[in-house]
Amino acid sequence: MSDIIQLLPDHVANQIAAGEVVQRPASVVKELLENSIDAGATSITLLLKDAGKTLIQVIDDGKGMSATDARLCFERHATSKIRKAQDLFNLNTKGFRGEALASIAAIAHVELKTKQENDDLGTAIKIEGSTVVSQEVISTAKGTSIAVKNLFYNIPARRNFLKSDTIETRHIIDEFQRVALAHPSISFLLHHNGNEVYHLKESNLRKRIVAIFGGKMNEKLVPIEEQTDILTISGFAAKPEFAKKKRGEQFFFVNDRFIKSSYLNHAVANAFEGLLEHNAHPSYFLYLSVPPGSIDINIHPTKTEIKFDNEKALYAILRATVKHSLGQYNVAPVLDFNRDATLDTPYDFKDKKPVTTPKIIVDPTFNPFKEEAKISQQSVGASSSSGARPFQPSYKKEVGSWESLYTNTDTFEAPQQEQLFTTEQETETGKTFQIQKKYILSSIKSGAVLIHQSLAHQRVLYEEFLHNITVQEASSQQLLFPVNISLSSSDIEMIYSIKSDLESAGFVFNEFTKESVVIGGIPTSITESQITLILEQLLDDIKMEVPDASFSHFDVMAKSFAKSLAIKTGTILNAKEQENLVNDLFSCKEPSISPFGKATFKTLSLAEIDTIFNK
Ligand code: ADP
Ligand code: MG
Repeated sequence: MSDIIQLLPDHVANQIAAGEVVQRPASVVKELLENSIDAGATSITLLLKDAGKTLIQVIDDGKGMSATDARLCFERHATSKIRKAQDLFNLNTKGFRGEALASIAAIAHVELKTKQENDDLGTAIKIEGSTVVSQEVISTAKGTSIAVKNLFYNIPARRNFLKSDTIETRHIIDEFQRVALAHPSISFLLHHNGNEVYHLKESNLRKRIVAIFGGKMNEKLVPIEEQTDILTISGFAAKPEFAKKKRGEQFFFVNDRFIKSSYLNHAVANAFEGLLEHNAHPSYFLYLSVPPGSIDINIHPTKTEIKFDNEKALYAILRATVKHSLGQYNVAPVLDFNRDATLDTPYDFKDKKPVTTPKIIVDPTFNPFKEEAKISQQSVGASSSSGARPFQPSYKKEVGSWESLYTNTDTFEAPQQEQLFTTEQETETGKTFQIQKKYILSSIKSGAVLIHQSLAHQRVLYEEFLHNITVQEASSQQLLFPVNISLSSSDIEMIYSIKSDLESAGFVFNEFTKESVVIGGIPTSITESQITLILEQLLDDIKMEVPDASFSHFDVMAKSFAKSLAIKTGTILNAKEQENLVNDLFSCKEPSISPFGKATFKTLSLAEIDTIFNK
């Protein structure tokens, strides 16, 4: 038999490697910006056309390249940043693999212009699909400009895979913000289709954050500082009252490199414990410095995850530091000599007179019960005269002083007509009563038991899921049409990593792509419309979980499912449903607490009830 193995030609090898480094325009942006920083730039301009699909150009005033280096930089494994393996353990640059430019040049039209400070003339090189098409001597400013045009021009499948301009631009802006936040002393300019998006001047960290996220951010920031032998922390957290409903402004930088870490995020979230409303996420910008040798730098070029040697200690220090700083900002004024005093006082208050204590005005005639009676009367009249009444956005007029109950809620949603206007009835069901669409009261021999319907149902579902997953073969229902769910690539990876657990729970996965998972079957206990909700909740929960020895995906999954699927407060339950819930709860192994440790019911003995009336 003849030999069949061949070495791949360089341009093919580069194209394959490019697939790993360059997923979308944002990946190119990240690599180019990082190269400029490694080159010691003090000012960096990013020009984009069509979300980077047509043009990504980065211009810097860094140290530039010689003519030979300009040619060499496009070779694979060509780097000026490490020379020997040992250098890997003392890395102060962003790049070191020498892969980025070779990869980018394999899948785009690239134009490089560069000049070193002491040279009179610079070099211009054009390269298309790894082939150099021209090299010239030119006169140009000190520094480097790299223009990347028509990304993926020779890989149509990849090009078609790109998302809308809005989404690709969002990805680019995310990368840009991360780099700009990591380097406040460098000035940045970002133009998209000829419009200026950011113009960030050289500044300090606080001002950089404010320049990116807007002036309102300034009053929200609490400085965080700590120095220990293994870790230095600096940066800011936003005060708890500014926490967000959606996770957004959460940034960790380790040795000036943006990283994602659900473990460290958990440490911060933990420091906020008790200060946040349910489901609120704190914003933070935290900069950690650790000795370069104590982190695993052999991270994949496109990954933002990181491994620390002494994770547990970092967790503890970070948590304690944030907690301490949050506590301090309340009592002591914070001194930050770096900051610009004009940013300190919100503009409106700058020239105001001293504050006077507000007078409290009490309405002595206010009687909440009177109001309630009036409203239910109104609603009865209205609904009987017009039958099913269409929704009227002007309901506020009718509810009168009820309005004030809601004015402090920023996410106020119009309550359902029915909820607002029907008189609350304690539904009698023979053995059980539902109270305020929240509790079930059931008479028992020794007195009464008051059950929290949602927490009780969580317990029931939790045990049911755990049983299904661990004890018996979970039953699965096949979907008529597989459901395609788009998720971020990190989320997809996470689902992939717990695929077998999810399969034991009854999920069937037909396909995993870079952007989505295709689901062909689901546990019988859930419905098709709940899939996305459940998976997203699960991902969130897993991210929040501190990975340690006792970490069990099954438990997290069961809790997560229970939380997503349990009947909620505000749901009316009919007699049968109430009864089933009570019976199911008391057939649980641990009926008295929810999967999250809250009491599910309270018994009131006859004696206790008696004392209420015999005081
Ligand atoms: P790496 O950054 O891992 O070294 P790259 O492919 O990103 O690999 O870059 C290859 C080399 O090209 C770098 O090591 C550096 O010497 C040079 N280089 C790239 N971009 C610039 C730039 N903006 N200014 C100066 N030199 C650069
Ligand atoms: Mg690089």
